[in-house]
Amino acid sequence: MGVLWEPTLDAEAAHWRDLARKVATERFAPLAEELDREQRYPHEHVATFVETGLSGMLVPSEFGGTGLTMTAICAVVEEVSAACASTGAILAAHALGAVPLLLAGTDEQKRDILGPLRAGAAISFALTEEGAGSDAAALRARAEPDGEGYRLYGEKIYIGNGGISTRYVVFAKTDPAAGARGITAFIVPAGAEGAVVDRVEDKMGIRGTRTSNLRLDGVRVAKSDVLGQVGRGLKLALRTLDLGRVTVAAQGLGIASAAYRLAAAEAVRRETFGRPLIENQGIGFRLADVAVELSAARMLTYQAAGAYDAGQPVSMPGARAKLYTSEVAHRAVDLAVQVFGGAGFCKPCPAERLYRDQRVLEIYEGSSEIQRLVLSRAIATEVAQG
Ligand SMILES: Cc1cc2nc3c(=O)[nH]c(=O)nc-3n(C[C@H](O)[C@H](O)[C@H](O)COP(=O)(O)OP(=O)(O)OC[C@H]3O[C@@H](n4cnc5c(N)ncnc54)[C@H](O)[C@@H]3O)c2cc1C
Repeated sequence: MGVLWEPTLDAEAAHWRDLARKVATERFAPLAEELDREQRYPHEHVATFVETGLSGMLVPSEFGGTGLTMTAICAVVEEVSAACASTGAILAAHALGAVPLLLAGTDEQKRDILGPLRAGAAISFALTEEGAGSDAAALRARAEPDGEGYRLYGEKIYIGNGGISTRYVVFAKTDPAAGARGITAFIVPAGAEGAVVDRVEDKMGIRGTRTSNLRLDGVRVAKSDVLGQVGRGLKLALRTLDLGRVTVAAQGLGIASAAYRLAAAEAVRRETFGRPLIENQGIGFRLADVAVELSAARMLTYQAAGAYDAGQPVSMPGARAKLYTSEVAHRAVDLAVQVFGGAGFCKPCPAERLYRDQRVLEIYEGSSEIQRLVLSRAIATEVAQG
């Protein structure tokens, strides 16, 4: 038994975790600094996902995927994120592209779209707009009826894998007067006329990932491109995010454990005033706190993943895991920078990169404030129900 709590994985999940650890150490870690410095998307890592079976992880084998459990996916995302946070985020996004299809796709949509994910294709989730991030129901993109289909107008922003994905799941209003019940999801092929990516974000962290806008200048979609029911798009988006939060938590575990390991090794190695840093309680006790918090974060995350694998609701466990783990990761990277002192503030210290990579975990897929909102509303409901 080590200081950090480790989940007990079944043989299959343990196999995927070990494979991910090997691949991440040998191929992803060595490029992490370069991807960050050059803000370069690692196409070669996607080729590695395909070669090793890490692509199409959430896609059931009947649709040509690897068909991993959520527990195994979390173990993989944790390992990869510890080696390279950008690659962990890309892998999580690849897995999540399948979710709206799995939740709401017709058999034909699943057959056509999920199979290529195993071959490395990505699907982007395009919900956020300039005036609609946390408040997704306020989105203004619209889908106007056009013959047998629709035309889409508007602009989506901060789209993960934008410009790289082969398809986008776009959320737009089919009935603006109906508010949250007037939103519908559409599958938009990357090459569709009027679907334009013309801005790539210059980011603080996870700089190896690609984040862009998606302009919708009258993009024509057929009725068969509607995903799920007309008017039920927001519900689909929120259910997708419920699951996404579990993999964000797994990214947080990877970043936190990498920061913890760096900080612990440095605190033992570095001497000031004639003794190792760790012998000063100001440092040693903070490390102890992070070790306990990281263990607790792992318990929450693997509990959420296990809930999904058992067919149970994942909304509450996912919110708990994402909120806690992303904030534990914050404390872990902060400690790592502090332990390295001046070196921690300068490139290419890995603690400096982790410090920037961590920050987005508290923002995307529902910020920390939104997780607290979800949880506090659930508390109020529970109290009202007695
Ligand atoms: C790198 C990156 C990748 C992303 N990938 C995607 C993607 O693939 N697809 C996609 O659709 N979106 C994506 N996003 C968007 C992301 O989900 C949003 O940025 C996020 O939901 C926050 O929305 P916002 O930026 O509009 O902030 P706002 O909603 O404007 O919020 C601003 C601040 O106010 C706080 N706040 C808002 N409402 C409340 C409240 N009621 N109470 C207290 N505080 C509140 C928020 O927590 C936040 O701190 C990505 C973002 C980033 C940075």
